[in-house]
Amino acid sequence: MLTPKLGNCPNCGKLFLRIRNLCEDCLKKQEEDYLKSAAYLREHPGVSIQELSEATGVSTIQIRQFILSGRILAENFPNLSYPCEVCGSQIQTGKICNKCMKSAQDLKVQVERGTENHSTDKERRAPGYISKYL
Ligand SMILES: [Zn+2]
Ligand SMILES: [Zn+2]
Repeated sequence: MLTPKLGNCPNCGKLFLRIRNLCEDCLKKQEEDYLKSAAYLREHPGVSIQELSEATGVSTIQIRQFILSGRILAENFPNLSYPCEVCGSQIQTGKICNKCMKSAQDLKVQVERGTENHSTDKERRAPGYISKYL
């Protein structure tokens, strides 16, 4: 059985038993933040993250985390969008927009092709390759 280790809370730095991601205090605070945000959203479904943050005192980072973890469904709220981590255009799910997702995939393909090129490096060292291309 895994014994829980002592660690510092990533949020407040307090030493705690790492049975969860956050210490008891921060977990409680996060839950309160969530309930506050969710309650406000029910009343004002048209607010932006900025407005929600100002009204509830919950940080925009925290609200974004609720969206990313699926606790707040941004698709249900037309103005609840946040910037794409790569290009900054407004998105409502995930960390990056579809466009950047696509270019990330393209990049992955390029990297995979790069690995293929790596194998031709070996061929380049083969005598046949040299006589053919010199
Ligand atoms: Zn904490
Ligand atoms: Zn983007």
